[in-house]
Amino acid sequence: MDDIAANLRAVEDRIAAACRRADRDPAAVRLLPVSKTMSIEKITAAYDAGYRRFGENKVQEAYDKWGRLRELDGIEWAVIGHLQRNKARLVAEFASEFQALDSLRLAKELDKRLQGEGRRLDVLVQVNSSGEESKFGLPPEEVVGFARELAAFDALRVRGLMTLAVFSSDEDKVAACFHRMVALQKQLRQADAVSVGEGWHELSMGMSGDYELAIEHGATCVRVGQAIFGARLDPNAYWPGVGGGN
Ligand SMILES: *Cc1c(COP(=O)(O)O)cnc(C)c1O
Repeated sequence: MDDIAANLRAVEDRIAAACRRADRDPAAVRLLPVSKTMSIEKITAAYDAGYRRFGENKVQEAYDKWGRLRELDGIEWAVIGHLQRNKARLVAEFASEFQALDSLRLAKELDKRLQGEGRRLDVLVQVNSSGEESKFGLPPEEVVGFARELAAFDALRVRGLMTLAVFSSDEDKVAACFHRMVALQKQLRQADAVSVGEGWHELSMGMSGDYELAIEHGATCVRVGQAIFGARLDPNAYWPGVGGGN
């Protein structure tokens, strides 16, 4: 498992280099290791290398790993994939962060379940920045209206936005998705009904293939799986929107 620690250091180095290119403070970019489909041993190796919060796109898998790794002091889970309302109860029970909020009905259900648990949850609103049919998330033009409604849910701590950019070797097309997110964040901060300051701080964008570009465009959280843990056997089987998600 030495390679996992080494991979983490390599990704950290590339994050630092991307920050230097963009004249940004590396402390303003958080690396979220995405451990979906990965073994308990691999997650433990990343934990031993200093990481505490892990991203999973399927809630049942995340819940099972949470149960099995509870002894690891301070370990936390971020659910980053589409969530069905009937699984909101699970997320309310164990997750520290949910990055794929995309409907009011889900917000309402999560809020209710969190109130029941006496917990609060950091949430990011997922945006479909590429306009692809296969992608989850709100269309950008609906986000400001959605944001206003979210103020009603006390148990949801709204932190910002999340997206998956278009999967393309054309860097301009990928960058256009990131640009759209930055513009949207600006719009949210200007919309009077939405609290400013810390609100909407997070821009979660960038994965193994595009995290450096995402950082150059302002990402505050990059979600990196395969560059840390190695290739997944069948990436498509776990691709949100293609493999079914939650
Ligand atoms: C799987 C996944 C990632 C990480 O993808 P990698 O290619 O393994 O870096 C990031 N975000 C979401 C929502 C994912 O489902």
